[in-house]
Amino acid sequence: MVKSKKNKRVKMAEERKGANVQKPVDEEGAAVAEEQKGQAVGSEQEIAIKHTEGGAVIDNRPRVCPSCGSTDIIFDAERGEYVCNNCGLVIEANVTDMGPEWRAFDADQRNERARTGAPIKYMKPNKGLVTEIDMYNKDIRGAKLPSKRQAQLYRIRKWHKRASIASSSERNYLVALPELSRVASYLGLPDNIRESAALLYRQCVKNNLIRGRPIETVANAALYTVCRQAGMPRTLDEMAQISGVPKKEIGRTYRIIAHELNLKIPLTNPVSYVPRYVAALKLSGEAQKKAEELLRQAMKKGLVSGRSPTGVCAAAVYIASALVGERRTQKEVAEVAGVTEVTIRNRYRELKKELNIDVNL
Ligand SMILES: [Zn+2]
Repeated sequence: MVKSKKNKRVKMAEERKGANVQKPVDEEGAAVAEEQKGQAVGSEQEIAIKHTEGGAVIDNRPRVCPSCGSTDIIFDAERGEYVCNNCGLVIEANVTDMGPEWRAFDADQRNERARTGAPIKYMKPNKGLVTEIDMYNKDIRGAKLPSKRQAQLYRIRKWHKRASIASSSERNYLVALPELSRVASYLGLPDNIRESAALLYRQCVKNNLIRGRPIETVANAALYTVCRQAGMPRTLDEMAQISGVPKKEIGRTYRIIAHELNLKIPLTNPVSYVPRYVAALKLSGEAQKKAEELLRQAMKKGLVSGRSPTGVCAAAVYIASALVGERRTQKEVAEVAGVTEVTIRNRYRELKKELNIDVNL
């Protein structure tokens, strides 16, 4: 009896144990699997973050294992190696990790851990490295400040402004850089041109080229210089019209800048004006191609040097428009190019004769 009882009790215990044991195993197993999954996902995300933050690395990242063809490739940050997760081949060693050495899991941590700020901008006074006190007399919760505190903030703001743009050159930039930005945006110039122009302007200030010259003149001359350097020339006429600075002044200052700073500025290629003229005259792509072809032939024959690039380009566009059957008048082309009809006529005759173009205009 006792024995059987005991047996029974043991059996029951065993049963209970078995049941109890089996369940946790399942749960644990599931949990472990989940954890592994989570880890896998986590590490993948980490790699992704590293590589997007690294910027340059993302393009070099190997995608397929050259040995087994697996796409399951792991980045071992500790060793700086790309390793195939399938066959273990080290695909790339000594990889530079361009990302930060810290990790952040939300925006707060990112702000806290990053030791760098926005990139330096030559377009901004103080290159954008400034602390700003906002204009709103409100505290962090948006409540209005008491008037005594408002007066204090007003004084702080005033002195902050005076202290942060302390040097006369920084005060100079405060006038010049917005002018640069304004003219550049009217001319539809991209950001990198504006930045280069701002940098060039700063060099002019450093080299004392602004003494005795109006700020606007030097700023526009710097912009004109950078445009020519970058191969997207704007004419002096255009710049003068938008900035209100006389064309002669911009031209003269441009020559001084180029000379004093030893800049090598390529001759303006008349081809670079073609797309703009074609667009303004609403001509087709075929006309554009034809004009560019004519100009290339003209350059080979030396019909470009010594003549104004706008004039040659205008004549080429004028001829091209007639050749493809989308004729524009000399007056229309002259207006768009900012040259006289006489110039177009002269260049046109030259091109027609030298290139043996069979066209009647
Ligand atoms: Zn492999």
